[in-house]
Amino acid sequence: MQKKYVGLRLICQVLFLITTLFIGYKFYQFAAVLSQGVIPITQRPPGVEAFLPIAALTSLKYFFINYVVDPIHPSGLLIFLFIVLTAFLVKKSFCSWVCPIGFLSEILSKLHSKLFKKGFRIYPGIDFVLRSFKYFLLAFFLFAIFYTMNPMVLKQFIFSSYNIVADIKMLKFFTDISVTVLVSIVFLVMMSIIIRYFWCRYLCPYGALLGIVGLLSPFKVRRDFSTCTACKKCDRACPCSIIVSEKNTIASDECFACGKCVDACPEADTLFISLPKKKLKLSPLAIACMMVAIFAGGSFLARSAGLWHNGVTNQAYLTAMLENNLIDVNKVANMDTFVSNLDKRGKRLLMMKLIRERKE
Ligand code: SF4
Ligand code: SF4
Ligand code: SF4
Repeated sequence: MQKKYVGLRLICQVLFLITTLFIGYKFYQFAAVLSQGVIPITQRPPGVEAFLPIAALTSLKYFFINYVVDPIHPSGLLIFLFIVLTAFLVKKSFCSWVCPIGFLSEILSKLHSKLFKKGFRIYPGIDFVLRSFKYFLLAFFLFAIFYTMNPMVLKQFIFSSYNIVADIKMLKFFTDISVTVLVSIVFLVMMSIIIRYFWCRYLCPYGALLGIVGLLSPFKVRRDFSTCTACKKCDRACPCSIIVSEKNTIASDECFACGKCVDACPEADTLFISLPKKKLKLSPLAIACMMVAIFAGGSFLARSAGLWHNGVTNQAYLTAMLENNLIDVNKVANMDTFVSNLDKRGKRLLMMKLIRERKE
């Protein structure tokens, strides 16, 4: 039996993790220079917008209303569409082939297997109730953005200074971590060791959305019952507790398209990811190439079309940071340079801030 999916998937996950870390590092440098009141020499990496799913949803609504990509977080919307496309093609493949959180969850699930030798699974009824929580969260966000936000409020939000620096705020969320956030992260990590894929399975609204879109995907795990020996090795291998051995097509919204069941099957040509009627079986290499083509190719095309970088100037960033208290004026290295880097509104804001501080 050849373990094909596991190896290629790991390479794919590591590649995307390295890309994410690189983007994170470049963005950290960019934000650190700006917070000193200085204009950075390097450009902001647009890929960081992958971590702004709320901004992506507001951009999507903005696109539906105005038929233009929002100029503040354009790549956020495009990355969101790339991710949805992966689910439309091959289930929640994004989760097991690309997402760094999914990768971390998989590593933690290995730790779970080491600690709980006999395995530990939640009672199916409780599991079902808990799984519905991520759909409630998704419904909440969709309702809040697509139903309650009127076009005027949407526009105000998109062009607000808060939205402009949403990515820098997110970065600060981790770099200036509060005790509450730290405790929450530790809690989630611990829970992911005790209950495999705790965050992904029960809480992630993104995963919920991909699960729903994945119901439409033509590529699914399929079983040839004529050669299946009912050994149930596929059931034991599935991280999503799907009973693969009893279905000919895995339609579940939980399927990650990870291929673990396919790898575990001892019978040749019995379990595979394909179109209906065994047509076009997807090899692991084909899925890996699909992922790279969608994200690398998609970003290349978006760059060529001028839709990748946002239209926010560095001066506008400085003003928005000032407005959102992301610059400590007392720690600015050179006040003259800072003032000269600000636009009119920024200068006004700075003056008000200094007057307020002097009064205090
Ligand atoms: S469920 Fe969410 S966090 Fe988990 S792998 Fe999928 S997108 Fe990433
Ligand atoms: S059914 Fe197979 S491909 Fe889908 S999650 Fe389970 S092991 Fe992975
Ligand atoms: S591992 Fe293969 S042979 Fe065994 S039950 Fe699953 S599909 Fe059938």
